[in-house]
Amino acid sequence: MTASLVGIYVWAIGMIAWFIIRYPYARKARRTATVKAVGLSRERVLLAIATIGLFVVPLIWLVSGWPAALNYQLNYAAVVVGALVYLLSLWLFRRSHKDLGRQWSASLEIRDSHRIVRGGVYRLIRHPMYASFWLWALAQACLLPNAMAAMAGLVAIAILFFTRIDHEERMLTEAFGDDYRAYMRETKRIIPGIY
Ligand code: SAH
Repeated sequence: MTASLVGIYVWAIGMIAWFIIRYPYARKARRTATVKAVGLSRERVLLAIATIGLFVVPLIWLVSGWPAALNYQLNYAAVVVGALVYLLSLWLFRRSHKDLGRQWSASLEIRDSHRIVRGGVYRLIRHPMYASFWLWALAQACLLPNAMAAMAGLVAIAILFFTRIDHEERMLTEAFGDDYRAYMRETKRIIPGIY
């Protein structure tokens, strides 16, 4: 089997694992009351962009072969790096879901009896789930042997992250005041000690 084919299989298996990890939380979230939602139409567009970059564009390429001019061959080093980054991403994704628990929502929301989470992976950084999305997009860039499919996830996550992050931190600061401000002073966003 070529490294390129292995890369595609690893990407697909990781995607299935991602859905299996999220499914129980998405089910529970439907039953958790929301007291405030912020920027709903903007959030809808951002989630659509993330879905397009991480699923739709790669699937179009996989199914149709277009744009074949941007295909290249992977080597096994890229596949191994991609698989390791993917594993780290899925671990962080699962841990942040566990630590965030019922405060989780796909868009920006304050839940009924919402509390600030500062433990677990949230001790290291404020946005471990978004860090896991960045790692996922990086893994995709290593694993798919086509420039458009490889880069689409990174572009989509960059748009999602940089458009959403200030709104999310403002919403949490308005809801939790000094508690969240203190947490912001103690932690960085996605890279411990750096950013
Ligand atoms: N940005 C976080 C959470 C993503 S889920 C991360 O990347 O891990 C988005 C929801 O999480 C938002 O609606 C917000 O209400 C909630 N949230 C984000 N950080 C939180 C925290 N430290 N404690 C409690 N809820 C938080």
